[in-house]
Amino acid sequence: MTTAILSALSEEQSGLLVQLVQPQRVDHAGRTFWQGELHGKRVVLALSGIGKVAAATTAAALVERFGVARIVFTGVAGGVGEGVRVGDVVVAHDYVQHDMDVSPLFERWQVPGYAGVRLPCDTALSAHLSRAASDCLEGAGAGFYTNSDGVAPRLHQGLMASGDRFVTCAQVSRALREPLLAAGHDVLAVEMEGAAVAQVCLDYGVPFAAVRTISDRADDDAHVDFPAFIQTVASRYADHIVHHLLKTL
Ligand code: SAH
Repeated sequence: MTTAILSALSEEQSGLLVQLVQPQRVDHAGRTFWQGELHGKRVVLALSGIGKVAAATTAAALVERFGVARIVFTGVAGGVGEGVRVGDVVVAHDYVQHDMDVSPLFERWQVPGYAGVRLPCDTALSAHLSRAASDCLEGAGAGFYTNSDGVAPRLHQGLMASGDRFVTCAQVSRALREPLLAAGHDVLAVEMEGAAVAQVCLDYGVPFAAVRTISDRADDDAHVDFPAFIQTVASRYADHIVHHLLKTL
């Protein structure tokens, strides 16, 4: 049984790659996949690429070419929910594509052909991932990032939104979040790939779970916060959370 570990950026993947036992490189569909063992479990490591289409291609390749039994996404995201701060960790229950709009034919944000606005993640795999994230935060992860007021990073679970836009302005973030909230969809974090992978996994019936560390607040400081975070903190979180997860799978 092979678990795919998807990351968006090489900075997020680098810590996992150096630990891969008997690494085997496979180039396919313009991407590099790494097969091997991590903590005694068969894995394939891959970079999703940036944005929904790139991530969907990678996810489909993982299923079709590598026959993976499950896909786990580890990455970073912009925190938009109340109290979701830089250094916090969010595990997705479900996803919405914030830039999908076929209204009035369908409800705004709904991908035609799928039930409802929200694309669900796998409940059991997400529960494993939440436990792994919380073990990480209660252990070494507590020291990975310190907010200016000294409050320790927290774990959140809920809705994430994906779309083909890096959100770096408070006004855009509000315009994205508020109509969703008014329709009953309280988005915790925004990124650019997860909903596409969730959709592909629903198509193939492959369990999917996603964890994102908050690198920025999707506001006017995001372009400064984001690169600093991915260079120093992101891969340490990915490393520890994946380690805790693979131990329990
Ligand atoms: N500098 C990168 C591109 C970064 S795009 C490169 O050269 O390849 C931002 C990535 O981080 C995406 O993978 C997205 O999923 C995530 N992300 C983090 N903060 C985000 C935000 N505020 N808005 C959207 N995506 C964000």
